[in-house]
Amino acid sequence: MRCSRLFTWCFLLPLMGVVPGKDTALGNGAALGKGVALEKGVAQAEVEKPEFEKVELEKPELEKFEFEKFAIDQRPAGFVDLKEIDPSITQEMRYRQSHNFLGRRVRGYVAAKCILTRQAAKALRKVQAELLPQSLSLKVYDCYRPQPAVDDFVAWAKDLSNTKMRKEFYPRVEKANLFRDGYIAEKSGHSRGSTVDLTLVPLPAAAQPIYRDGDELVECFKAKDQRYNDNSVDMGTGFDCFDPLAHTENQEIGIEQRKNRHFLKRVMERHGFRNLPQEWWHFTLVDEPYPRTYFSFEVR
Ligand SMILES: [Zn+2]
Repeated sequence: MRCSRLFTWCFLLPLMGVVPGKDTALGNGAALGKGVALEKGVAQAEVEKPEFEKVELEKPELEKFEFEKFAIDQRPAGFVDLKEIDPSITQEMRYRQSHNFLGRRVRGYVAAKCILTRQAAKALRKVQAELLPQSLSLKVYDCYRPQPAVDDFVAWAKDLSNTKMRKEFYPRVEKANLFRDGYIAEKSGHSRGSTVDLTLVPLPAAAQPIYRDGDELVECFKAKDQRYNDNSVDMGTGFDCFDPLAHTENQEIGIEQRKNRHFLKRVMERHGFRNLPQEWWHFTLVDEPYPRTYFSFEVR
């Protein structure tokens, strides 16, 4: 269902489920080193099902939400630049560049900044304070996402002729099924400003190759030494891997990768975030200040 973007009430509030995880630590033996989707469409899936089976989506809860209209170049007072709250957190803003599932910059990302609600940014600062003594840092891939960016995802998904980035980001999903299977939807929790996509980076952070348009692509679920050479901890898949292997509790990934996911999940939970079971990298502040408001201002 398509919603008008200004002061309009619609129905269909995305569900954000939580799957309990084991409390594990990232030990010395953890697989450190080099190393979208349902959060694009926030939907519920049966993560315990056999892998590679199509994700089953529950019917969305009928609840009201609203789009808030601000001037597109005006950041509301409740939002901050994460750099100003914690400059030590690594940033790799994927939708401001071309290394993402569209293969180009996404609408609404004018600057390579991580914008979040003040509450979410401060909670991330607490997570980072816990990580730094362990020679680890957070790395954010996406933060607040303007509604025009989500609209851009939707328009891209409808253009079946453009499969430029399929090999890396959705190698086992037909583009025609991205909507049906819940990987792309018309709203995202990121537009509420308290949801973030992130991973862990061992410190000192290793250099990583700069993705250039046209670079050879490798499937995001391949082993860490084969897929894109990200400088993060090995979580079993790359970021924005539209695949069951990206489900946080997937049993098919290695033991070390599962430990790493659990470590990230637990440290985030200790500071008020909950994970989306379909994506190991996606977290929402439980006490988010705008639980029903979808913002459109640009990231600048
Ligand atoms: Zn996300």
